[in-house]
Amino acid sequence: MKKFLMLAAALCVFCAADAQTSDEAYMKKADEIHKKYLTIDTHNDTAMYLNHPDSDDWSVAKGQVTFPLMKEGGLDAAFFAIYLDQGPLRDSSRDSVYRFAMDELNLFKKYVADHKDEAAIACTPKEVRKLKKEGKKSIVIFALENGYGIGQDLAKIDSFYQAGCRYITLCHNYTNDICDASRYYNPNGHGGLSAFGEQVVRRMNELGMMVDLSHASTSTLEDVMKITKAPLFASHSAVRAIKDHPRNLTDEEIKAIASTGGVIQIATGRWCLTNAPKSETSVKHLADHIDHIKNLVGPEHIGLGTDFDGGGGMIDLKDCSQMKNITVELLKRGYTEKELEMFWGGNFMRVWEETIEVAREIAKGKK
Ligand SMILES: [Zn+2]
Repeated sequence: MKKFLMLAAALCVFCAADAQTSDEAYMKKADEIHKKYLTIDTHNDTAMYLNHPDSDDWSVAKGQVTFPLMKEGGLDAAFFAIYLDQGPLRDSSRDSVYRFAMDELNLFKKYVADHKDEAAIACTPKEVRKLKKEGKKSIVIFALENGYGIGQDLAKIDSFYQAGCRYITLCHNYTNDICDASRYYNPNGHGGLSAFGEQVVRRMNELGMMVDLSHASTSTLEDVMKITKAPLFASHSAVRAIKDHPRNLTDEEIKAIASTGGVIQIATGRWCLTNAPKSETSVKHLADHIDHIKNLVGPEHIGLGTDFDGGGGMIDLKDCSQMKNITVELLKRGYTEKELEMFWGGNFMRVWEETIEVAREIAKGKK
């Protein structure tokens, strides 16, 4: 008996050492992957925080994204969204929110300029790839979260495009002039896209600007699908079959997005991932959502949109410095290097580049 116990103890020590070696091996492989391939997070609310770090008006943890943290975590690029609270649908509010959004964009541009040794702004996939190749600076891309900022004026879409925004999230949690939202569905809303919303989608197609369906209602998604000529895109959403939350996408919606060649960028954070306590929510829960989409529609339709500084994050993904923990978990689940390349940016870049190609074809009269 004693002999057996000694043998068991010896085996245990061996197993622990082996597990440690294998964790180190996974992290080494993750390091290689993050160096080799472009890595993109398509949604954070960091600009709003960095523009006003002293504000106490924050309901969620902040400070999850800085350029040094991006470097540390092997994250090359991120979409920094200008987030707009939904306000009244009247002209004075529409005008003031537009001015607010432009001011925030300019403030954040100044922040990036003040950190020009650490970061650079990109407006095209080509610029993103060039900066990745140079490997020195964190890549900043702009987005607008909530089409409320364009009010009822199509020309304002062009203004946001010219200011560098490359996607617009059509709505936030409430109905606006463009469409209905998923979170607080309005039975007296538009029943999906409004007539103005249809024009918005067409103009965004013409500009090569991505139409972001995160926060949109199912009827909005269906209406956009009928009109848009570009692949569908959700910048920060998760799977409703796993976590029953109105903001999450149903399997039917995931299939619809995939059928257009589109991509679902999975959000992080307990609210969209799991009912487990916050203290137990980990990248394993995130990986369950990634697995679900992979099994449902294939690995070509998944990416990451953390929602950092807007409710994202978990115990082993507290901030940008821990991005490689996701890669380690996916490697453990048998994801191939090719699938990881696709997840970390390949899929999203395909959608962005196709959206730009659509604009070119529209301009040539081919679409
Ligand atoms: Zn959001």
